[in-house]
Amino acid sequence: MTIATDLLDRFARIVGDRHALRQPADIAPYQEEPRGLFGGVTPLVLRPGSVDEVSRILALASETGTPIVPQGGNTGLVGGQMPDGQGGEIVLSLSRLNRIREIDTSSNTATVEAGVILQMLQQAAAEKDRLFPLSLGSQGSCQIGGNLSSNAGGVGALAYGTARDLCLGVEVVLPTGEVFDDLRKLKKDNTGYDLKDLFVGGEGTLGVITAAVVKLFPLPKGRELAWAALASPDDALRLFALANDRAGNGLTAFELIERTPLAFTLAHVSGAVDPLADPHPWYVMLEISSGRSADDASTLMEEVLTTAFEAGLVADAAIAQNETQAASFRHLRESMSEAQRAEGGSIKHDISVPVAAIPEFIERAGHAAQEVSPGCRVVCFGHMGDGNLHYNVSQPVGADKAAYLALYRPMNDAIHAIVRQFGGSFSAEHGIGRMKRDELVATQPAIATELMRRLKTAFDPAGIMNPGKVI
Ligand SMILES: Cc1cc2nc3c(=O)[nH]c(=O)nc-3n(C[C@H](O)[C@H](O)[C@H](O)COP(=O)(O)OP(=O)(O)OC[C@H]3O[C@@H](n4cnc5c(N)ncnc54)[C@H](O)[C@@H]3O)c2cc1C
Repeated sequence: MTIATDLLDRFARIVGDRHALRQPADIAPYQEEPRGLFGGVTPLVLRPGSVDEVSRILALASETGTPIVPQGGNTGLVGGQMPDGQGGEIVLSLSRLNRIREIDTSSNTATVEAGVILQMLQQAAAEKDRLFPLSLGSQGSCQIGGNLSSNAGGVGALAYGTARDLCLGVEVVLPTGEVFDDLRKLKKDNTGYDLKDLFVGGEGTLGVITAAVVKLFPLPKGRELAWAALASPDDALRLFALANDRAGNGLTAFELIERTPLAFTLAHVSGAVDPLADPHPWYVMLEISSGRSADDASTLMEEVLTTAFEAGLVADAAIAQNETQAASFRHLRESMSEAQRAEGGSIKHDISVPVAAIPEFIERAGHAAQEVSPGCRVVCFGHMGDGNLHYNVSQPVGADKAAYLALYRPMNDAIHAIVRQFGGSFSAEHGIGRMKRDELVATQPAIATELMRRLKTAFDPAGIMNPGKVI
């Protein structure tokens, strides 16, 4: 279904011609997403500059039954920010709502508009001696509205929580055009249903987040980053227990990495350097932060690693000697997904299981993957401290890429079946979007789907908000 030209004109007039993109070259970037899996088509991209404009757009959309697809930084990995291929959906870009309205250092909060780039907020907070701890590989382009709508996780979630945990209040434009202003700074507020939590993680299906209040933390005085080599995920689990015991909340990252993703990164990412002299089967990148001093963080890290060496858990380790080296460790970790591209087809899983189950999950999933595609290469890395792994599987060397990717479904089914046996999640941090909608409906209890449908109908009676996503 296409949208009549005079209706497109009415939408365009709300934001003004300059901010209503209609030329194919202007629209093109809004129709492509990072993995190239969910191309879409739209006749119009609207770039509102105020909450009032968002409100008028959604009111008109509800009145005319016009589907709206909110788009933030367009870094989502499940196709939630993409219009479908029919050309009948309008993309609503939040990029121009990009003001940091307030940083309140006494309450430790920031009030920010949805289009603020994550890295901008991190920097603005640091200038006030505060930490905004959400940290993602896409932080240079993803936006706070997108982070909240997809309940992003990332490396800092271990100590500081996911985007949901970091959010205190939201300002939302409902599909009807009404504005729900809930920009409160309260940590404690037990006044009925927590409505904001429906929009956080809602993937733009219930309304458009236009601003939010997020938590800030004191900037750590010291941070130590280490790259440790281990023999097995079992040893990583023991190291996790040890680091937790010694550092407590000061353990601010614990990333498990198999040799294969590191090898791919060393082979395909320019400037990538192995932090250690010899190859090892498994690694952990761990960070310890201290609110007291740089020395304190350093002493804690030394203590954890020395104890781990003595217990035979760690075979070798490097502690970043300066910020440049720390950045190069982080860059290795962040490049792993991209590095896989050069190795042919990849079937990806973003799963979580209880932390204690990680070694057994890896063991069983490895067998299952080989049964689906003998010779495939498991590329396992992720936020082990959160029980979250990016359990990706690259094609066998020399295999036909298309034939391998035809196994996407059976591979997903095999891996996700094991995830379910551990009571885990088949979408730990990337969301549902278009990619996992059918699997969600097929695997969650029918009553959960029914409750989600009732919520959707209550918030969006005209069905205009990001249709076809999530449910
Ligand atoms: C290199 C790379 C690394 C990544 N690493 C991580 C990671 O470690 N952890 C993680 O969780 N994710 C990660 N991601 C996924 C992605 O960056 C996050 O999901 C991010 O939070 C999306 O933000 P965005 O602004 O790009 O949103 P978009 O991709 O534009 O949108 C995501 C979803 O939110 C909706 N949406 C966007 N803005 C709004 C709004 N204002 N109101 C309502 N709905 C809205 C969209 O409709 C869509 O459904 C990574 C992606 C890349 C490319």
